[in-house]
Amino acid sequence: MPVAAQDELNVYASAEARFETAAQKLHLEEGLYRFMKHPDKEITVYIPVALDSGRLEVFTGYRVLHSQVRGPGKGGIRFAPDVTLDEVRALAAWMTWKCAVVNVPFGGAKGGVICDPGKLSKSELERVTRRYTASLCDWFGPERDIPAPDIGTDEQTMAWVMDTYAMHVRHATTAVVTGKPLELGGSHGRKEATGRGLMMCCDKALRKLGMEAENCRVIVQGFGNVGSQAALLMHQAGYRIIGIADIHGAIFNENGVDIPKLYDWVYNQRKPLPDSPLAGERTTPHEILFRPCDILVPAATENQITAQNAHRLQCRILCEGANGPTTSHADPIIAKKGIFVIPDILANAGGVTVSYFEWVQDRQGFFWREREVNEHLQDIMEHSFDQVVRYAEAHAVDNRIAAYILAIDRVARALKLRGFYA
Ligand code: NAD
Repeated sequence: MPVAAQDELNVYASAEARFETAAQKLHLEEGLYRFMKHPDKEITVYIPVALDSGRLEVFTGYRVLHSQVRGPGKGGIRFAPDVTLDEVRALAAWMTWKCAVVNVPFGGAKGGVICDPGKLSKSELERVTRRYTASLCDWFGPERDIPAPDIGTDEQTMAWVMDTYAMHVRHATTAVVTGKPLELGGSHGRKEATGRGLMMCCDKALRKLGMEAENCRVIVQGFGNVGSQAALLMHQAGYRIIGIADIHGAIFNENGVDIPKLYDWVYNQRKPLPDSPLAGERTTPHEILFRPCDILVPAATENQITAQNAHRLQCRILCEGANGPTTSHADPIIAKKGIFVIPDILANAGGVTVSYFEWVQDRQGFFWREREVNEHLQDIMEHSFDQVVRYAEAHAVDNRIAAYILAIDRVARALKLRGFYA
């Protein structure tokens, strides 16, 4: 029986519900179940920061280390006004399962600071980042817990994290963060990796369903790191992006939106997405999800597809770019509609996969060409996709629960081999 979260919009409850459904299917031993359900440790830090005005503000930050069973914790840092500890817990657990799905040797972690990066100056953001990092210097480390960018943070944020850590440990340690600028030990292909991984999964799904990429109609919600890169790469590969949205609004055009021009408008000219002169109907970033299309890519934020609206979806494939865009209550409705779901812990795993390559390159001090990065990424994404689909067929479950089963099984095996200390 699938388990449903009590509070549909609590992402931690949603993550737990999927974990429990998969654990039941797997007949996971009670002790292992209890161990894997809870995070290893979590911390709240209060970050005093002098604002540019001279006023002292105290921000609240979190870091949750969900699992180190298969390797050091790995997970992004989110800067957003609505960050909660439960959200960070859910994201940390998803990182554990995601790293296990693609079989990279990391556990799961996540961090966040309650702040609005749009309202802070660059120097204020730098001080928030540095003080947050300083508070967590004993947690972070290439062998312990390795942050990366997430919503509201970027390459520059990671450069500040790396520098602050380096000042504390007294030597440059590039492998302490991923998603860094190339000049500081970043990896070629990291910026595009999550979007590229999404496209690789869509390519595989199309082959499985006997469909063609050429002119395949795609709607992408979110035009940040993940959504913009996915849209650019898919546009380049012949997919037709008929709908695209960011928080300010959405453009819908059945003939296709010119994504490179839109990218230039938003990122070079720094203008609001819906004000672009590109042809197309304007609609809301929420309504765009329910227009007819072949592939829907929610790549913005959580809880977009719920029990209240899932019946309105008109896509053939749902490829989850964001973490947790679909609630556990929506899962059975989507299954009934026969939509092929590529769940977040598989679909958006391209980012952490290339983060793993970045960590490997930093530790070796030897850097790969972009072609090599993309080839390795393709091997991992395609293999992981096949494994998830095989598990779904073998266990008679949907792709999401199959991905959880695959992941939990891998972590449980590692745990049993390691045994329990003391
Ligand atoms: P980002 O901050 O770069 O971009 C977020 C985008 O979503 C922006 O375009 C924003 O305007 C838009 N947005 C926010 N709320 C929205 C709403 N309600 N409706 C429509 N659009 C909205 O963040 P990102 O790094 O692209 O991350 C997006 C999602 O992907 C998050 O769930 C994140 O956890 C997940 N993710 C990111 C990565 C990565 O490598 N950056 C990897 C895996 C998963």
